[in-house]
Amino acid sequence: MNNPASTVPINEAIIEQTLSRLAHPDAKQIHDVLAKALEMKGLDLSDVAVLSSISDPELMGELFAAARKVKEQIYGQRLVMFAPLYISNLCANECLYCAFRARNQEVHRRALSQEEIAEETRIIVNQGHKRVLVVAGESYPREGFSYVLKAIETVYSVHEGRGEIRRANVNVAPLTMDEFKLLKDAKIGTYQIFQETYHRATYKAVHLSGKKADYDWRVSAPDRAMQSGIDDVGIGVLFGLFDWRFELLALMQHIQHLESKFGVGPHTVSMPRLEPATGSDMASHPPKPVSDVDFRKLVAIIRLAVPYTGIIMSTRETPNLRRETFALGVSQISAGSRTNPGGYADGEKNDWSQFSLGDHRSLDEAVRDVAQLGYIPSFCTSCYRVGRTGKDFMDVAKPGDIKYHCDPNALSTFLEYLLDYASPATRETGEKLIRDTLLNMNPLQRSVSESLIEKVRSGNRDVFC
Ligand code: SAM
Ligand code: SF4
Repeated sequence: MNNPASTVPINEAIIEQTLSRLAHPDAKQIHDVLAKALEMKGLDLSDVAVLSSISDPELMGELFAAARKVKEQIYGQRLVMFAPLYISNLCANECLYCAFRARNQEVHRRALSQEEIAEETRIIVNQGHKRVLVVAGESYPREGFSYVLKAIETVYSVHEGRGEIRRANVNVAPLTMDEFKLLKDAKIGTYQIFQETYHRATYKAVHLSGKKADYDWRVSAPDRAMQSGIDDVGIGVLFGLFDWRFELLALMQHIQHLESKFGVGPHTVSMPRLEPATGSDMASHPPKPVSDVDFRKLVAIIRLAVPYTGIIMSTRETPNLRRETFALGVSQISAGSRTNPGGYADGEKNDWSQFSLGDHRSLDEAVRDVAQLGYIPSFCTSCYRVGRTGKDFMDVAKPGDIKYHCDPNALSTFLEYLLDYASPATRETGEKLIRDTLLNMNPLQRSVSESLIEKVRSGNRDVFC
């Protein structure tokens, strides 16, 4: 079948049985799972259920310590930076939590013209970004889906000063296989789609009308994307709609399904939490709110469960919470974001935005903060550009070899940022971090890094290994 609907085995009965069977694990069970996690080969459904039941502060400390260790081993100090680019807030769906829902009269509707998309891209490039996430509601202007394809072409066509967008990821509604093939031909990076909730009854209750009301069409979108040749697919849950433990186990089932069917799981997992949104009572009063403590726990468990899958944290969260989750497993963050179409040119406007932000800082401030904490803000896009995607990426990543690419590339792209866009204070912080990082590298990594850095200092851009 060209466009299979659901063959994704999200089994609610198994999830509920597993959670109730392992609701009160003893310390030995928890220690066994943590020991397994440190082998960095991932965890299964029962393991994840055990970790999700930890409440003892000491054991929680051990969970966080294990997550920190795995994060450090695989991702080192790197944090990949990106900016969302909202091209349109037109939408035909009625998702009760979202400001863009069709019946919401409190939001101004706008689909950017290609010239406006180019202008937004210029502003984002001038901030220093190299990656964007193109986002749209599920209704396109007259030209239909080709509006999104044109937008991607526009984004890649912008060359401004010494920069350009080198990887455009996309978060749009589920597509047919033919449409996914067009998206692949447009040279997107990751196709991202969040199931929002894996719990069918909740899904039905919060998606009242429009195409998105079809759970199966949405849950099978990653399958269609991968079958159409898109190697890097990102999935996620909108936390706050249903019990987070259930969602976590369902996410694991989805990941296992993709791994067994395609030999590779998702490239990234996103973990948005419900934020207030204009015209949505549900967004201000999440049915199943996730506390900050549980949210940290979630990051740590996902890090241990799928060690090689990127975890994305957006500016929905406050700077403080974002900082804490870097150590626990987050590998990509957005910064300097706007969630209203035209927001980079016009500023943040809540009556245009999808939801309100927790972090309002500029990219420069976020970069300085991250660097002061000892993390290297990475603007690297090299894997995707040399074809290290999907299974090829995982094959390099799994034995830990990716460090030999990522660390030098992170440093050279960070230096590009510092030389071309940073404020003096950020440049000073960043240059010190680069010196300290080089000192702590092994000789091979250092020599590769130094040679890239030398090229950037002498005026080359977009150099990578
Ligand atoms: N319209 C497409 C769709 O729904 O798949 C793609 C873009 S949608 C604008 C991106 C994501 O924003 C949604 O998948 C949802 O998880 C998230 N979102 C919607 N309302 C939100 C809210 N109030 N707080 C946080 N995230 C929200
Ligand atoms: Fe539309 Fe996506 Fe918002 Fe739902 S989440 S109302 S589909 S933009």
